[in-house]
Amino acid sequence: MLMNTEGPSSAVVVCEHASNFIPTEYGNLGLDKHAATSHAAWDPGALGVTRRLAKALDAVAVTGTISRLVCDLNRPPSAHDASTQKSELIKVPGNVGLSDEERAERAAKVYEPFRRTLAAQISNTSHPVLITVHSFTPIYHGKQRDVEIGILHDADARLADAMIDIATQHTSMNVQRNEPYGPENGVMHTLREHAVASGHLNVMLEIRNDLIAQENQQIHVAKFIATWISEAFNTMGVEGDVQCKI
Ligand SMILES: [Zn+2]
Repeated sequence: MLMNTEGPSSAVVVCEHASNFIPTEYGNLGLDKHAATSHAAWDPGALGVTRRLAKALDAVAVTGTISRLVCDLNRPPSAHDASTQKSELIKVPGNVGLSDEERAERAAKVYEPFRRTLAAQISNTSHPVLITVHSFTPIYHGKQRDVEIGILHDADARLADAMIDIATQHTSMNVQRNEPYGPENGVMHTLREHAVASGHLNVMLEIRNDLIAQENQQIHVAKFIATWISEAFNTMGVEGDVQCKI
């Protein structure tokens, strides 16, 4: 889904895991209702933050519309976990024993349209800056996670470095580099595919989902992240209108 396509900002805001929608043809992947709506299926709260962040930066947003359990937009279609068989404690019966044809069909229906849409938006933006928004569960495999906001990067850390500097000055929140995931977890696909390879500035944000469960929380978090991004842009001399409008 596309939002704010006329936004003049250099920023292109992306939310790959925005939706837990599973089309009926996949029979809910054999999941019960709880599993199909849990954090395994999507990133709760991330879409709300993405919308408001795009608005605040006056930037375009590109968001996924189908659950990552069908096809994960932040994985290469060839990856073993592009349609994962197990997410944390949840087994996904509908993803067990998929044939190459079934994998290719999901990639064609879900991954490719998203990839093309995002690539087109990036090529339509002068000096594009890719910002991806994710959320993570506060308790993972029974352990509490203390990190509240992760600022993630792959080989190109320019924007992440600037944002971490600014966040350190502006907040007492627990902000960490490449936490709770990093390049070793295979989460850098969108950054690599759409930014790192072409030299565009980029960053991936991971927000603990208990901090963005409610709309007022999403507005609050989007507001201060927009400020960090805007200040980072100013520091780095990024072109485009990045006024914060929330
Ligand atoms: Zn995610």
